[in-house]
Amino acid sequence: MPIKKIHRYIAVCDVCQQPMRFGTDSEIEYTPNYGTRRDAQAAVDDNEWTDLGRGRIACTASDPAHDDARDAALSRRA
Ligand SMILES: [Zn+2]
Repeated sequence: MPIKKIHRYIAVCDVCQQPMRFGTDSEIEYTPNYGTRRDAQAAVDDNEWTDLGRGRIACTASDPAHDDARDAALSRRA
């Protein structure tokens, strides 16, 4: 079996630029990847990441930069 290049979708936080990771409390850590943009969006929703609008998303980190980004997104919707 040759090594093949594939096209997959991953979720990346717009604030810290880190990809979504699973298994961060174990020795096995990985970035989940999806065959469709819709499935990646579902993972964003299922893991409580925040839709910042215009295709941007924020992970669940709690620090001033993430909190400000979430607050700004919520105020635009109000
Ligand atoms: Zn982040």
